[in-house]
Amino acid sequence: MAGVRTKKFGRGANECKMCGRKQGLVRRYQIMFCRQCFREWARKLGFKKMS
Ligand SMILES: [Zn+2]
Repeated sequence: MAGVRTKKFGRGANECKMCGRKQGLVRRYQIMFCRQCFREWARKLGFKKMS
């Protein structure tokens, strides 16, 4: 889609912040990760406690 403005992130607003992937994005806490990175990131933060 053309004409989509990006507010915070000038480049790559709709891609994973870790690997730059654009598939399976999970947007949470004002960040955006793909599923894989989100899982790793969540594990690091101990999200497994929250089941
Ligand atoms: Zn990723």
